[in-house]
Amino acid sequence: MTIKNFINGKFENPIHNHWIDNYCPANGEIYGKIPNASKEDVEKAYEAAEAAFPSWSETTLDERSRILIKISELLESNLQRFAEAESKDNGKPTSVAKTVDIPRAASNFRFFGNAITQFASESHESVGQQAMNYTLRQPIGVVGCISPWNLPLYLFTWKIAPAIAAGNCVVAKPSEVTPMTAYLLGEICNEAGLPKGVLNIVHGLGTTAGQAIIEHPNIKAISFTGGTATGAHIARIASPMFKKLSLELGGKNPNIIFDDCDYDEMLKTTVRSSFANQGQICLCGSRIFVEASIYEKFKIDFIAKVKQLKVGHPSDETTDIGALVSKQHLEKVLGYIEIAKHENGKVLCGGHQVTVEGFENGYYLQPAVIEVTTDECRVSQEEIFGPVVTIMPFNSEDEVIDMANKVKYGLSATLWTNNLKRSMKMSNKLKVGIVWVNTWMLRDLRTPFGGVKASGVGREGGFEALRFFTEAKNVCIKY
Ligand code: NAD
Repeated sequence: MTIKNFINGKFENPIHNHWIDNYCPANGEIYGKIPNASKEDVEKAYEAAEAAFPSWSETTLDERSRILIKISELLESNLQRFAEAESKDNGKPTSVAKTVDIPRAASNFRFFGNAITQFASESHESVGQQAMNYTLRQPIGVVGCISPWNLPLYLFTWKIAPAIAAGNCVVAKPSEVTPMTAYLLGEICNEAGLPKGVLNIVHGLGTTAGQAIIEHPNIKAISFTGGTATGAHIARIASPMFKKLSLELGGKNPNIIFDDCDYDEMLKTTVRSSFANQGQICLCGSRIFVEASIYEKFKIDFIAKVKQLKVGHPSDETTDIGALVSKQHLEKVLGYIEIAKHENGKVLCGGHQVTVEGFENGYYLQPAVIEVTTDECRVSQEEIFGPVVTIMPFNSEDEVIDMANKVKYGLSATLWTNNLKRSMKMSNKLKVGIVWVNTWMLRDLRTPFGGVKASGVGREGGFEALRFFTEAKNVCIKY
């Protein structure tokens, strides 16, 4: 299967004919090739976007909305095909792609198709000065969207949908590790009648295609989701060019469990928040802190449940845990299991490779629970981004808040308690962008989404995203 760049509504080979292999994580085989787009390809994509901008930015909100909603409907009617493609490319269970990734990609287009019709700006009367101010929210022009491999189409469209809804034209790059559904999206955009050049998709390595986007002098805003080191690099390049930046970066999120919680609900959700999508979600609660009074009970029950998780081929409907995304990533995660052992962490279960019959070269790992004696060890501080969690007990609210905040990241936190005062007090004190109390990853697309500290800058979601993708211009009229 050969993937192509999508430029000006057409599928095109890379100008310099450079290609990268595309691997299937479930069996370790190469099953296709993707362009490694160059600066020249990105320039071509930019020119198409620039040419489309005057007309798209003047297109009525009703018409933009109609097209976005049409894209959403087409994704829904192609659910099975997209889910299978996502699963093959990423290694995630097809059931997850079918119930989470692709439905959410469709919701992203529907949500922003509706949101743009409700987006409003402010007016301020300068009382006593006989002047009226009104604020225009104008599209920026050509913007860049760069996304990671863990939730490929879900995160790709989370950026593209608000960008085009707000009247911008886009040069976008999905992760080179999972390019397939972004490629398929091009077809759908044409079918939905999105004018050519409004969305251009280039494929390839971060260091070539991605770098060309962030360095482009006329791509005026970059919305990026990915690793913290890459985010820092992008900021170094883009900030001196005064580009607008939204950076959604890594996480190492605490999951704090008090003894007054609804135990069964907590246990069930904690298995999910630890290992959903093979633990490869930036929001996974990979640092589990349990109140000492229920620690031993939790340990026994949690391990029993984690051992029941079935590691298997992504297309097998009984599979809970599919393949990790790549060989390099599997090796990185295995490396952390070794680090844990050297740091006196106790691997309570999992942490070893699994051979799935018939798919012996796939990247499978048994989910790992590591008991640690200090939250300051590397496995409890560094983002592993795989099916690995640490657990340790705590004795007081102050102690656990301190441990939860003593990490360089600040994306999300989960709290399990039925004590209202405590949940509100702790939510105030946690240094993160998102707190879930007695639930996990319950998303309302209107809410602000993003992190603090090394988890990034800026917020996505709802009107926050539309504000990011527009420039405010104040007009002051003296009367
Ligand atoms: P990554 O940073 O390696 O890559 C992300 C994207 O950036 C890819 O498309 C890549 O090609 C591109 N890229 C790499 N170098 C670049 C450069 N020099 N210039 C421009 N683009 C470049 O991240 P990844 O390994 O794909 O994804 C995993 C990371 O993403 C984890 O750290 C995870 O926490 C994070 N993540 C964060 C969120 C969030 O919302 N905060 C969501 C999902 C994933």
